[in-house]
Amino acid sequence: MRNLLLSLDETAQPVEVFFRDDDAGWEDERLLELIARFAEHGLPLDLAVIPAALDDRLAALLLDRHAGLHQHGYAHTNHQVEGRRCEFGDARGFAAQRADIAAGQERLRALLGERVDPFFTPPWNRCTRDTGEALVELGFTLLSREHRAEPLGLLPELSVHLDVARLMPDELDLRFAAHVRAGGPVGVMFHHGVMEAEDMTRASELLGVLARHDRVVPRRMADLSG
Ligand SMILES: [Zn+2]
Repeated sequence: MRNLLLSLDETAQPVEVFFRDDDAGWEDERLLELIARFAEHGLPLDLAVIPAALDDRLAALLLDRHAGLHQHGYAHTNHQVEGRRCEFGDARGFAAQRADIAAGQERLRALLGERVDPFFTPPWNRCTRDTGEALVELGFTLLSREHRAEPLGLLPELSVHLDVARLMPDELDLRFAAHVRAGGPVGVMFHHGVMEAEDMTRASELLGVLARHDRVVPRRMADLSG
C-alpha cells in the first residue's frame, strides 16, 4: 500500500472514504467475518442486501451489528438474454423493474424495519433510466453504481471506485492512490462472498492503513447521501 500511503501523506484535504459490501444474503459466514474485520478497525460499513436472499436468521444477525443496510436489487437474477449480466437492464421495462424493486423494498422493511436506508445498489452495478424512474417513484434517495456509469440525473448518486475482491494488490494500491489524489469521496467495494482467507487478511491490512491515517475521513453512505 506504498502509493496509497504516499497519496494520503501528501493530500492537502482530508479524503472521505466509504465502504460498500455487496451480496449480503449469500455466504453468511464470510459476511459476518468481514463485518467483524470492520468492527476491529472501527470503520463503518454499508451492506447491499439482496431482499430475496435475506431470511429471519440473517436479518436478526444484521440488526445486531453496526452496519448501514440498503437494497441490492431483488433476487440478483440476470434477465438479459445477451450482453452483460443485469437484473435491471433493458430486457425489462419500467413496470417489471418497478414491481421487483417494490417487492424488495417491502421485504427489507418487513425484516429490517427502520434500519433500512432508502438507497439502491443494482446488481452488477448496472441499471437503466427506467430503474431510476422507478426508484424516484418508490421514494429512494440514493443510487450507487460504478464511477464510470453516466449519472441518470434523476436522484442523487454515490459511486464506488475500487473493487477490492477483483483488483490485484498492486493495482488496488495504484488506483486507490489516484482516487485520493483526485479528491473524494472514494467508494471502496467489497464482495465478501468471493473472499478467501488470504483476501480477508489483505482487506484487513488495507482497513488498518485507512483507519490509522489522519487524512482519511471514514463515512457511512448515509453521511454522503445529501
Ligand atoms: Zn451483487
